[in-house]
Amino acid sequence: MDGLFTPGLVAAQQPQWPGGPTGEPVTAAVNTLRSLPPLVFAGECDNLKERIAEAADGKAFWLQGGDCAETFAAATADSIRNRIKTILQMAAVLQYFSSLPVIKVGRMAGQFAKPRSSDSETRDGVTLPAYRGDAVNDIEFTESSRTPNPQRLVQVYNTSAATLNLVRAFTQGGFADLRQVHTWNKGFAKDPRFGARYEEMANEIGRALAFMASAGVDPESFKSVDFYSSHEALILEYEKALTRIDSRTNLPYDVSGHFVWIGERTRQLDGAHMDFASKISNPIGIKLGPKTTVEDALAMIAKLNPTNEPGRLTFITRMGAGLIREKLPPLVKAITESGAKVLWVCDPMHGNTYEAPSGYKTRRFDDVMDEVRGFFEVHKKCGTHPGGVHIELTGDDVTECVGGGEQISEDDLKNRYETACDPRLNHTQSLELAFLVAEMLRDR
Ligand code: PEP
Ligand code: MN
Repeated sequence: MDGLFTPGLVAAQQPQWPGGPTGEPVTAAVNTLRSLPPLVFAGECDNLKERIAEAADGKAFWLQGGDCAETFAAATADSIRNRIKTILQMAAVLQYFSSLPVIKVGRMAGQFAKPRSSDSETRDGVTLPAYRGDAVNDIEFTESSRTPNPQRLVQVYNTSAATLNLVRAFTQGGFADLRQVHTWNKGFAKDPRFGARYEEMANEIGRALAFMASAGVDPESFKSVDFYSSHEALILEYEKALTRIDSRTNLPYDVSGHFVWIGERTRQLDGAHMDFASKISNPIGIKLGPKTTVEDALAMIAKLNPTNEPGRLTFITRMGAGLIREKLPPLVKAITESGAKVLWVCDPMHGNTYEAPSGYKTRRFDDVMDEVRGFFEVHKKCGTHPGGVHIELTGDDVTECVGGGEQISEDDLKNRYETACDPRLNHTQSLELAFLVAEMLRDR
């Protein structure tokens, strides 16, 4: 794969590997990765691209969710199952009320590396490298834990493989049966803390399923679902080592996941991440923050999708609840007028983070919902499809975001704050979001 990528470009947010990016430790890890089989099949990436093209045309809805940062320790059966379960529960509600197929995508099986605002962290006068995700170093605040270790990239591969194996087993083996998913949702909707509103919606889905059962409808598509993996393509040594030529098409694919995105902090037009994204054939996403100009967005399209290939490019906007109604319309209008086809996805998490008085990084459920509402309003005004949502969530009962029906307060954050990076919606907050977004989809 040497020669595919443009040499000498600046790669933002890379770890200070011992020995540097071409030293022996990195080379050893990269050689191991290069010898390992793909985690996903390029044909699956193409299938996903086709489905994204449908969503961009208004004929499907995108649901992407998972941890801000996966950890090796949390790659357990329970944790993986709870995350998949949550996403499937959300998808069932969204699908029913939108009457659209829902594309289910995990921020999962590869989301192990993080960009950081500072290279280092200081505690009580001691300064060490910042935690950059389990792909790079360990979160524990000691010199040996925080020293970047490229062998961790091999562990990313192994943990991703194990995660993906369980994801495939759950989603193909009967666990994900739509009727089963509905039974879980009924349980959630009965919780008196949320009022009768969600129960009414769940009952409506129940009646539709009962009607189909009475008519003898028992489609195979109820029993298994397509579930795709995604992560931020951040550590270029890892992503490049897993970029392979597909034997069917002779094109390079990053086979570390079905869909990869470039983050807000690494999307410099002339940087190494954009060069990387421009060379792989996967469907790709770009995060767009509130400073994005129309010129930036059009230049990204020219670089990443010059042929206007359907499904190739997804713009994941993360403006913040206070800015979305002002910042998103000019982008949507200009891109629509240019004729470029993109899928518009709302990340209502990253523009709404703040520090609680107790020091915990958190987000308000109401701000998250307000950004999604703004996203729907803007697309309605522009006549474009609000194509999907991108959510940091977990299937467990953590206390990381405030608000929601459980009324988690800033004081409650300490009870179960477990994230390795940004605060996630818990299981209940995720389902609430799904019901509320489902109403927006129904009324759009
Ligand atoms: C993220 O998705 O965790 C992230 C860092 O987002 P962004 O690039 O949008 O800041
Ligand atoms: Mn995050």
